Amino acid sequence: MSNASTCRAVSYECAHCKLISHGKPTETVVIHGQELSMCCLGCVYAAEMLVGLYYSDLYTRTP
Ligand SMILES: [Zn+2]
Repeated sequence: MSNASTCRAVSYECAHCKLISHGKPTETVVIHGQELSMCCLGCVYAAEMLVGLYYSDLYTRTP
């Protein structure tokens, strides 16, 4: 008997701590015009603080 999964797993990667979480993003924050998914308010605050301190394109930079 096949147990086909009809439930599409929705997951996202936290833009700050890179944690993969299932479901919809708990928090979203727009930085430099980009909507970023964050797993928790702690990551939102940390990201906003980093952007405020350095005002750099930390999250748009490709390694
Ligand atoms: Zn996070």
